Amino acid sequence: MRKKIVAGNWKMNMDLNEGYRLAESINNYFRQKPSTKAEVVLCPPFIHLAGVADILKDGNVFLGAQNCASEPSGAYTGEVSAVMIRSTGAQFVIIGHSERRTYYNEDNKTLLKKTIQALKAGLKVIFCCGEVIQERESGIHFDVVKRQLEEGLFSLSAEDFSRIVIAYEPVWAIGTGLTATPSQAQEMHKFIRDLVENKYGIGAAQDLTILYGGSCKPSNAREIFAEVDVDGGLIGGASLKKEDFIAIVEAV
Ligand code: PEP
Repeated sequence: MRKKIVAGNWKMNMDLNEGYRLAESINNYFRQKPSTKAEVVLCPPFIHLAGVADILKDGNVFLGAQNCASEPSGAYTGEVSAVMIRSTGAQFVIIGHSERRTYYNEDNKTLLKKTIQALKAGLKVIFCCGEVIQERESGIHFDVVKRQLEEGLFSLSAEDFSRIVIAYEPVWAIGTGLTATPSQAQEMHKFIRDLVENKYGIGAAQDLTILYGGSCKPSNAREIFAEVDVDGGLIGGASLKKEDFIAIVEAV
């Protein structure tokens, strides 16, 4: 059976001590009351990674970064490589978040390079895709997502692809309070699973974890996660509040 995952993307929030406190309280909660249904992943900013890895070491919560460099090492001031991320103890990295695509002009070609670096370093990749509102309104949202996956992922080998998690995040739902309806999410998740089946076969498609992201909160998580092709969530704003994040994990 494929894995369910709930990952918290803290974005550029929390100073070091606030981040440690949040990680500690989430870790304590799941140490005492393990989530049997979903793997829980915290994705803090880079500066938190090593310290949060230490906090999570005796628990069952996983750690991820929010981005990595497209190059392996060298003279790239300000960048953080996938190998460095892995060396902190992190197991995951988010690649292709819409905020990276929009504000930092990360295109599918760059995202493929980042994904290759991450996989080489031994990380699992949470690869984000999703359309903006104009694309949905003009009915090209399936084409947009197809292209993001074809160009960003589909040149990977089947073995490498088995370490990919896809997050469908309609951009119009991220941080806006608007959420895809459960049937809109299911429709796109099924479309993604079918694309993967065409490319990598039915086994890979059935094993693929596909997360929903976009204003997920305790009040709507249960009905979205109930859809057959939704395998958990990538959570932004609500992952900064311990109670909300835990409630979302428990909605799986
Ligand atoms: C995200 O940033 O991945 C996200 C889904 O954000 P939010 O939950 O705040 O919409």
